[in-house]
Amino acid sequence: MQDDQTRRRFLVSSAAAATGLTIALPDLAAGQQLPLTPECRGKNELTIRQTEGPFFKPSSPFRTDLREPGLKGEVFVISGLVVTRSCKPIGNALVDLWHADGNGDYDNKGFRGRGHQFTDSEGRYNFITVRPARYPGRTPHFHVKVQAANRPVLTTQLYFPDDAGNARDPIFRNELVMRYVGDRTPPVARFDFVLDIA
Ligand code: FE
Repeated sequence: MQDDQTRRRFLVSSAAAATGLTIALPDLAAGQQLPLTPECRGKNELTIRQTEGPFFKPSSPFRTDLREPGLKGEVFVISGLVVTRSCKPIGNALVDLWHADGNGDYDNKGFRGRGHQFTDSEGRYNFITVRPARYPGRTPHFHVKVQAANRPVLTTQLYFPDDAGNARDPIFRNELVMRYVGDRTPPVARFDFVLDIA
C-alpha cells in the first residue's frame, strides 16, 4: 500500500516535470538558447569514433524525450549540431542516443534512456533525459550513433566535464567532453558532431 502510494506520487511528479520541460525544448529547437555557430574549426576537428559497447539496441523509439516512468536520475538536456568538416550544418541526420540511468543501469528489456531523432534543417538535435551514473569500470557517458543520409554511421561516446571518474576511465577522451550551456536547471550540455563529409 505504502509502495503504491509512493509509486503514484512518483508518476504524478514525473508527469508534471515532463509538462514543464516540453516548454523549454521548443526554445532550444528554435535556436533561442543554442547559438548556431558550430564549434568545429575544420578538418582536424572530426568527431572521433569510440566502441559501441555491449548495450546498443536497434530500433529505438523516435523521440526527443527519453524519460519513461522508472528511469532514475537527474533530468539532463543534451543539444547541439551535426555539421560537415567545413562546418556546414547537416539536416535530416540520424542521432541515436542510449545510456545508463542514474543508478548506472541500462534498460535492456525496454527502451528507457534510448531514442533517436533527425536533425532539423539547420542541423540541430536535442534530447531530454537523465544524467547517467558511473558503472563498474566506466565514467558516466552517453552512447551515440550519428549518420547523415546515405553515409556511414559514426559511433562514439560523450563525457561530462565535471566527473572525477574521467581520469580513471581508459576509454575516456577529452575531445568527446560536452560543454555546459550556461548554468541552467535542468543542466543543458552541448556537443557538436563533425562528420567526415566535405
Ligand atoms: Fe556504456
